[in-house]
Amino acid sequence: MANSKFEYVKQFEQPDVLLPNTWIVVRIDGRGFHRFSDRYCFQKPNDRRALDLMNNAAVEVMKELPDLNIAYGVSDEYRKLVTTIVSTFTAHYIFKWDTYFPGTPLEPPYLPSFDGRAVVYPTIWNLRDYMSWRQVDCHINNLYNTTFWTMVQKGGMSNTDAELELKGTVSSDKNEILFKRFGINYNNEPEIYKKGSVVYRQYQLEEPGHRPDPSGTQERSLEEAETGFAQDAKSSKTQQEKLRKLRRKAQVVVDHVDIIKDEFWERRPWILS
Ligand code: ATP
Ligand code: ATP
Ligand code: MG
Ligand code: MG
Ligand code: MG
Ligand code: MG
Ligand code: MG
Repeated sequence: MANSKFEYVKQFEQPDVLLPNTWIVVRIDGRGFHRFSDRYCFQKPNDRRALDLMNNAAVEVMKELPDLNIAYGVSDEYRKLVTTIVSTFTAHYIFKWDTYFPGTPLEPPYLPSFDGRAVVYPTIWNLRDYMSWRQVDCHINNLYNTTFWTMVQKGGMSNTDAELELKGTVSSDKNEILFKRFGINYNNEPEIYKKGSVVYRQYQLEEPGHRPDPSGTQERSLEEAETGFAQDAKSSKTQQEKLRKLRRKAQVVVDHVDIIKDEFWERRPWILS
């Protein structure tokens, strides 16, 4: 590397450090997706293809960055973390666009981009509350959107009239509009719309017909390994490497379930260990 007189500019890169031993949430949000979704005619209120594409990009990010979920708290650089995750997400989103929207090519200036931010939460409960906050938001938005678009699409109302009628209503009012006027039981709406999508590593047992490893180590030792890792902050480098390998091999799954109640977390203790 040349030692030129210009090199001093590197010093302008200020440290941008996240607190260690915390839960780091990187939130990704489509930039200007109101316009973007109009441009590519997303179905309202929920375009399943667009959600599946988002989920697919998230799965690919999880696969590509095995540290996600556990090594966040060890990461140090805010910028590196956010930019890596957001750009990887965007790359996969664009790569898979044609699979989910065949015959609808992306055209500038209507290209998908995302903003990203890292927020640090010091306790598991803060993190759980964050996740709960998002899922409650999903429910409230989806109930509103489902009612609004049903009134417009099935009830023939104008956007303005539907909006006016919904102003000041509570959940039970919306459920009643859906049921009494349109025969729709909100409870029967697809889980993906009502609950959103949670993406996590599943350390599964062997596939059916697959002969288990006679030594019985690898997959099965994962939970122990993760627990051990959490308990022993100074776990050795080789242990961390082993864990990373297991994480890389794990299946990444997409679920549409309640993440507010304890059950989800209790059944999958490795996620927050
Ligand atoms: P800005 O983009 O100007 O920084 P913002 O993204 O925080 O602001 P909005 O874009 O108006 O604010 O918020 C859109 C939605 O995102 C709102 O429903 C809000 O509840 C939610 N939201 C805001 N901040 C966060 C966050 N840190 N994590 C998750 N959701 C958030
Ligand atoms: P910002 O850049 O501030 O985030 P935004 O236009 O992306 O602005 P958001 O509050 O993030 O605003 O809202 C995203 C919008 O994208 C939704 O209001 C909705 O209109 C649209 N949208 C996103 N995903 C879908 C989907 N799967 N189906 C239908 N519409 C969607
Ligand atoms: Mg948004
Ligand atoms: Mg925003
Ligand atoms: Mg957005
Ligand atoms: Mg905003
Ligand atoms: Mg580099």
